[in-house]
Amino acid sequence: MNYYQPEIETAPNDEIRRIQNEKIVKQVRYVYDNVPYYRDLMDKKGVTPDDIKGVDDIKKLPFLTKDDLREAYPYGLLGTDLKNCIRIQSTSGTTGKRVVAFYTQKDIDMWEECCARAVVAAGGTNEDVCQVCYGYGLFTGGAGLNGGSQKVGCLTLPMSSGNTDRQIQFMMDLNATILCCTPSYAAYIGESLAERGYKPEDNKLKAGIFGAEPWTEEMRQSIEKSLGIKAYDIYGLTETSGPGVAFECSEQSGMHINEDHFYAEIIDPETGETLPEGEKGELVFTSLDKEGFPLLRYRTKDICILSRKKCSCGRTHVKMTKPLGRSDDMMIIRGVNVFPSQIETVLLKEGYPPNYEIVVDRVNNSDTFDIYVECTPELFSDKISEMQENEKKLNLAMRSMLGIGPKIHLVPPKTIARSEGKAVRVIDKRKLH
Ligand code: ADP
Ligand code: ZN
Repeated sequence: MNYYQPEIETAPNDEIRRIQNEKIVKQVRYVYDNVPYYRDLMDKKGVTPDDIKGVDDIKKLPFLTKDDLREAYPYGLLGTDLKNCIRIQSTSGTTGKRVVAFYTQKDIDMWEECCARAVVAAGGTNEDVCQVCYGYGLFTGGAGLNGGSQKVGCLTLPMSSGNTDRQIQFMMDLNATILCCTPSYAAYIGESLAERGYKPEDNKLKAGIFGAEPWTEEMRQSIEKSLGIKAYDIYGLTETSGPGVAFECSEQSGMHINEDHFYAEIIDPETGETLPEGEKGELVFTSLDKEGFPLLRYRTKDICILSRKKCSCGRTHVKMTKPLGRSDDMMIIRGVNVFPSQIETVLLKEGYPPNYEIVVDRVNNSDTFDIYVECTPELFSDKISEMQENEKKLNLAMRSMLGIGPKIHLVPPKTIARSEGKAVRVIDKRKLH
């Protein structure tokens, strides 16, 4: 079994706890002394750095939310002088105004090490050619995986996203063995390879490291089949550094959180109460050793479950399940909670490709719920009756998963726009009225 930093990645739980306890005391003191915005929040709550003697005391600290980050934009949560920072990155802006994060050299090293752990967990060594087609630039995907791949010693192809023809040409000509991008783009690359007459065994890829957006188990199987690889999940957010906060190992059942750098809690999103291990709730992160943009108890809005069950890979760090989606991805349609991931699961199980668009609107005070689903050429038919029969079947499958039935529109192959970065699956017109 290979690890990038075996000692820490397989350290006994009490050793990890000891490291966390030591770091949190320093990090809280550091934030209190350097970030007036958070010092005010602590003062208002009546907590002082002396109250925090270990991670068990984290509960006493106030939360930070995306709203705080927006309010403090751009410099309000900066932890050190700008002259000590060497990089800025920014969120993709999926859910509103962008957030900017600052990094010192030490922050970048830590982040890249986290990504290197992910690359090694996916089987990466210095003999690999790692094609990074996450976007480069302000988005953290490209920079993070680029750094991780280089630290492992992989020959790194900094492709950035887009230009699928060139991606495929370089993949084949330069024998890429590891592919890094969003799962929706991986699916598109798989589709494009097939269209050009390549079979899965024609490429040299062995693994993919896919993240930055929610994807289902069914999507994983479909990508693994189309590219002939093992597909590993990677999770992160700009606020904590970027991808690599957590990553999947050979077991492919949940992602190990790099808990020597990030302390994770699960809370009840309604009450803010910390939930016991094994319960589903909102993921909250506390950075343990960041300088540029240290965040204490940051509410991610991502819903998942933590588990400390022993992992066959030998890593001891706590695992998080794939996020079900963001709490703000959840749509309430006619009073029922619906996640796009549930829709994806049904579509792929029923043999449809992962190309779909969900449109929600409100007409005459009642919610409308439409799903446009692309057919494969085999599923597409000129016979209207056949198409209607398929739409009805899909409607019933959705109804049994979601509790409500959407109107299904089967559309011809290649009519739904492909994504090169994070896919936009939901158009909620109710928010525009
Ligand atoms: P934005 O919030 O603008 O998309 P980021 O680019 O920093 O900003 O994205 C971070 C978010 O992306 C996470 O909070 C999470 O919702 C989502 N995300 C990242 N990785 C994954 C993953 N592996 N699975 C599901 N969602 C993910
Ligand atoms: Zn593992």
